[in-house]
Amino acid sequence: MTLLQGNTGDWEMVIGLEVHAQVISKAKLFSGAAATFGAEPNTQVSLVDAAMPGMLPVINQIAVEQAVRTGLGLNAKINLVSVFDRKNYFYPDLPPGYQISQFSQPIVGHGTIILDLDGGETREVGITRIHLEQDAGKSLHDQHPSHTFVDLNRSGVALMEIVSEPDMRSPEEAVAYLRKLRSILRYLGTCDGNMEQGSLRCDANVSVRHPGEEFGTRCEIKNVNSVRFVQQAIEYEARRQIELVENNGVVELETRLFDSSNCTTRSMRSKEESHDYRYFPDPDLLPLEIDQEFVENIRASLPELPDAKKERLMSEYGLAEEDAGLLATERATADFYEEMTKGRDPKLACNWVTGDLFGVLNKSGVGIEESPVSAAMLGGLLDLISDGTLSGRLAKDVLEAMVETGKEAAVLVKERQLKQITDTGVIEAEVDKVLEVHTDKLAEYKAGKDKLFGFFVGQVMKATGGKANPGMVNEVLKAKLGS
Ligand code: ADP
Ligand code: MG
Repeated sequence: MTLLQGNTGDWEMVIGLEVHAQVISKAKLFSGAAATFGAEPNTQVSLVDAAMPGMLPVINQIAVEQAVRTGLGLNAKINLVSVFDRKNYFYPDLPPGYQISQFSQPIVGHGTIILDLDGGETREVGITRIHLEQDAGKSLHDQHPSHTFVDLNRSGVALMEIVSEPDMRSPEEAVAYLRKLRSILRYLGTCDGNMEQGSLRCDANVSVRHPGEEFGTRCEIKNVNSVRFVQQAIEYEARRQIELVENNGVVELETRLFDSSNCTTRSMRSKEESHDYRYFPDPDLLPLEIDQEFVENIRASLPELPDAKKERLMSEYGLAEEDAGLLATERATADFYEEMTKGRDPKLACNWVTGDLFGVLNKSGVGIEESPVSAAMLGGLLDLISDGTLSGRLAKDVLEAMVETGKEAAVLVKERQLKQITDTGVIEAEVDKVLEVHTDKLAEYKAGKDKLFGFFVGQVMKATGGKANPGMVNEVLKAKLGS
């Protein structure tokens, strides 16, 4: 638990997150229009999305399945009957004047999520509910000096609002929550988790209290669009509230905005109460009824999820918890790892995936699905390390060449004659040459400058174009120098 020091003693943060996750589906929640990101403004708008008079919403079954799948992935209760309500408010980009959402009877009830914290620690956080709702359109203020434009492409897109219990106690836990939730949603294929494109958006609710006291009044920080910003927003907001209370102020229930340019939050409006929205059941829609069989079919199709995957990677391959967790974050990474590690050293394979391959992917800015080096190719490189053809050092160069040329490791080794030198005779001859050339350094070494050992190793490696087996060079040098 992270406590903050104030003038009146220690303070504890209380955090609950509301996450809006865009449902992966070809259509919107109540219309057949596409929901693809980045389309030309107002090209994906049906008459329903534009709220033309007399249009009727028709539920998209895929969106319902996705919400149920998400609920099951979060060990949550699935409600066989749920109700769509109108949430009334005015926004220029909300043509009907209300959003269709779920209020008192959401499709998914209580669930749980396990956070992976530093040092292998875990912590369970409650999910209060998940409901389905429509997204609003988008006002564009930067297209014209004096006019605001409206893009309705997003209007009516299906969102899952995933509400957590106020169970988190530090910004780090909030970050771990978002990471884990994103990972699970991506495994399930219910949301792509892309925060830059807005398919995952987070509202952070923050309050402070002295440990053991009742919860304080919360502020809600709206639409924070990166994991780092969520952390910064919570940190700032908790400090602000502590300072306020310690100076005899009162925290108001309000909605605040995070300003990423200076890492502060500022008041946007006092928070509406639910009665402000005058929720009532949408008369255009019957209560949504699903049956247990529908739920069970979806349950049967669930993939192995991150927690189970991590456990299995540990037991099946003997990986450390941290390594297994890293590989299990993304399903594609775990698949890649399992494919390349077949018949190979699991620990070595893990090091190459989480070290060198991740480095390559980061550098080229692509995900593992678009990796320039396939699992089979990286496996081939590993084989050349295991059979002594390549040293770890040479293998790194070969990987770089594989990325550049798209060629197999074995082909590159042949073409570039990269096979490592393991012939003792050859290495001894190279060592002798180096010692002959550097008689001055040799004298210094003998006079006690031990550090020069590394210099000699370096010279031999240089002379052999990096191909001498480093272990053997060390051995031979030690023998010759009598150390
Ligand atoms: P609203 O729609 O008014 O924001 P919700 O029920 O959708 O209300 O969400 C409330 C969120 O605030 C939840 O994530 C909950 O965990 C969190 N929360 C409730 N009380 C507190 C509190 N005292 N401090 C911090 N977070 C809180
Ligand atoms: Mg809410």
